[in-house]
Order: sequence, then structure tokens, then C-alpha cells
Amino acid sequence: MKSGMFADIPVDVGVVYEGERIRKGDMHAELGGPDVPHKFELLRVRPSDQVEDGKVVVVGPELKDIPEGSKTPFAMLVEVSGKDLEEEMEGVFERRLHYFTNWVEGFMHLNQRNTIWCRVSKKTVQKGFTLKHLGMVIIRLYHSECPIIEKVQVTFYTDPAEVERLYPEAIKVYDARDARARGLKDEEVDVFYGCTLCQSFAPTHVCVITPQRYANCGAISWFDGRAASRIDPKGSIYEVKIGKVIDPLKGEWEGANESVKAKSLGAVQRVQLYTAFGYPHTSCGCFEAVAFYIPEVDGLGIVHRDFKGPAVNGVSFSTMADSTAGGRQVDGFHGLSFEYMRSPKFLQADGGWKRVVWIPKEAKERVKDFIPKEVVDKIPTEEEVKNIEELKAFLKEHNHPIVEPSEDLKKLGVKGLKGVEAEKAAEAPAEAAGGVPAEGVPVMAPTLTVGVPGAGGMEFEIILKNARIFAEKMIIRKAERKGKGEGK
Ligand code: SF4
Repeated sequence: MKSGMFADIPVDVGVVYEGERIRKGDMHAELGGPDVPHKFELLRVRPSDQVEDGKVVVVGPELKDIPEGSKTPFAMLVEVSGKDLEEEMEGVFERRLHYFTNWVEGFMHLNQRNTIWCRVSKKTVQKGFTLKHLGMVIIRLYHSECPIIEKVQVTFYTDPAEVERLYPEAIKVYDARDARARGLKDEEVDVFYGCTLCQSFAPTHVCVITPQRYANCGAISWFDGRAASRIDPKGSIYEVKIGKVIDPLKGEWEGANESVKAKSLGAVQRVQLYTAFGYPHTSCGCFEAVAFYIPEVDGLGIVHRDFKGPAVNGVSFSTMADSTAGGRQVDGFHGLSFEYMRSPKFLQADGGWKRVVWIPKEAKERVKDFIPKEVVDKIPTEEEVKNIEELKAFLKEHNHPIVEPSEDLKKLGVKGLKGVEAEKAAEAPAEAAGGVPAEGVPVMAPTLTVGVPGAGGMEFEIILKNARIFAEKMIIRKAERKGKGEGK
């Protein structure tokens, strides 16, 4: 017989289930996710008389009535009230939904805002778990974890028409939140905010949130960080004293380094906030998009979570995300949010938008107004360009700044498309002598095992986990077999 605050819930609830993955074969249904156009989660602060504490409403079919194996539009609306609550705290409390829902045995929640992707397992539904139960869990966790919240009510939408109807409203709220956070510059503050909420999934990941660098998940702004750290200064979102600036172009501060070092338990020693190279900001797993280096043109591509096809380099978002995530600093791969793409600090040490050479149409539409006018039409999408050869041709035809970098780009170390071609031409004689050139497409090697003969006839095995190998050139030669005893 179960006891405690979840005694009446038919499955277990606890931090231990955080990070639980539900595979396709085990899932009863997928709620939201990349295959449905409309999904979102939204938390609103309301006046007390508009919230009925403990109320859970389900608009549309309950879990058991959703056909097994199906993927359905889904929305969660959480309405809260409390005398000390302010609208600017909404983003912070909304983010807690990721954690609270993941604490339910057999329920998986990924991402945030209008990219949520949930799965519920067959076993959990067979035990009698419903969305009503999920709402009860959410309400009790808000009460126990966030005492500033006095009343909570939850509405789930599984009726596709209702989710579609409410979707534009949710987008409007996200946009208004993001716009509210704009205007303040990083140079105008003496504290940033840190967040370690995602360490349960990526133990070395630490977000550093500045006015001009929104969190990777796109859900927490500097103002949200300030509100959260005031409510709970010892919580997962905390103040970071900036300290002395080390590199204003790359975005490196002594205080931010110290904080990241301490919070990652030494795994990350330095972080440079405005670059995808060297010591980039770590990436957890819930970033909204990935910036990736394209060596053939010396530019950066961007691909967002909802983009279905392969990016211009032939690699899908999920493959690049796997290689970027986990709380690591991966040179040339960088998880980021849409709002950071709207920032004047956006990858400024790498050339910013002048370095971006490809982005999916949908993502471009969302940030178009923030791309400098002189480059916006020079950045192709999947509609104009499908592979690297087409990309090179497009960039040249439209005289993209990466083709022949200006002095300001050269000062940042950008060699540009023509620079890459000149290097290749210089290497051509070697190729003519028998080498086969390979485009510098990154080879994703989740695990690469190399046998190395050691002393005394022993063999060592070097295992490179999640290795990424860039090959400027691949040379395939016919190997002459040597006689017995001469080796191979
Ligand atoms: S991505 Fe960063 S800011 Fe967002 S919840 Fe995770 S750690 Fe916090």
C-alpha cells in the first residue's frame, strides 16, 4: 500500500524517474513531438478569483482513449495565483513542468514551450494512470516546491482543434516575454544568472544567462533568472558575480568562469559566451537549435529542433544534437535558443550573422527581423540549397560576406570560401598523385574503438565515445600485401 503525497496516484512519482526514456515500442502514445504541428505548455499568473486550486480539466480524449501508438497534438495550461507572484516569474515556473512531469514513472517530457515532446508508456496507462492524475501530481509539486504559489489549476488539451485554436495565443505570450527581456545590455549589469536545472540530464551543463544571451532552452531570460534567484537564492537558478572581463569580444569573465567551474565540479574550466569555437557555452539537450561549422565554406549553418530533413551538410538535427548535447563544449557545434539569435551578441566573435550560410526557412522566418538587412537575402534555406555544392554556388552568386571576407571578418580569423578554395588548390598536386578528395563532412562516430599493439604482445583498446572526426581529405590507396612475417 503506497503512502505519502502520491498515495492515490497509480504509478510512482519521484526524482529517480527523471531521465527515464520511453522507446517507441514501449509507448502508449506520443503527446506533442516533432511529428505534430501544434503543441505547447504555458503557465500564466492570474488573479486569485480566476484560479480554482486543485482543479484539473481534460479537453479531449483521456490517455486510455488515445489510440495506442498514435501521435497527438497536446497542450498544458497551468494557471497559478499568489499574492507575491508577478508575471515576470511565469517563465521560471513554467520551466518546472519539465521536471515535475518527468518525475512520473512512465512519463517522458522533452523540450519546452511550443516544442514539447511527451510520451507515456503502455505500462503506465495499463496501471490506470490518466491526465487527471498528471494534473494532480503537477499541482501538488508546485505547492510543495514553490510555496510562493498559493493556487494552481491545470488544463490539458488533447483535442487537436482546441490545441490549434489556442496555439497562436501561446506564441504571443512567449514573444511578449522575450521582447520584455530585450533592451538591456550585458555591459550594463554586474551580475549574470546561472542555471543547473538540466544537470539531471547533463551533469556538467551550466547555463550562464546574460541580458543578451538567453538560456539555451529559450525559456529563461536574465529577468527570469533575477526573479527566480530572488524567490530562492539557494535554488538551481542563482546569481553569478561577473568579475573582471577577460575577453569582451568572446564574452569571457572571471566570475562566470569561477561559477561554471564550481557548478560543473571542475569539468568545465572556462566559458566564452559569444562563440561556437574554443570554449563555447556547454549544451545540455533542450537547446532550440544547433549552430554547426561547415568547413567547405568556412561558415556556420543553423538547424532547429523541428526541422525534419537533413541539414545542408547531410546530417539531421537529432544526430547533431546527440553530438552537441550532454553538457560538453564541442568545438564548432553550439546549442542555442531562438532569442539568442535575435541578440546583437549572437556569435559575435565568429562574425555573427555574416558567418551564417544556411538556416531552415521556418527558423529564418522567426528571426528574420533581427538579421542585418545586407545579409538576410544572402542566407539560403532548404528551398534554395540542398547540399554543399549548391550552397557554394548560391553563396558566390549572391556575394555572401563569407565568399571574400571583409577586413573585420578577417580580423576574427575567418578565411572564407575563397580562402578554403585557395588552400584546396594548393593541396591539389597531392590529390593528383593518387589521393581521392573527400568533402569535410563531419563523421559522427558515437563510439570508435581502435586497437593499438602494445609492448609484450598486449593489445590496448582506445575507445572514443561520441567522437566527431573531421576529414579535410580522405585518401584511399590500394594496399600492397606483404609477405608473411612482414606485417600488413
Ligand atoms: S537549458 Fe539552461 S536555463 Fe534552461 S532549464 Fe536547462 S540549465 Fe536551466
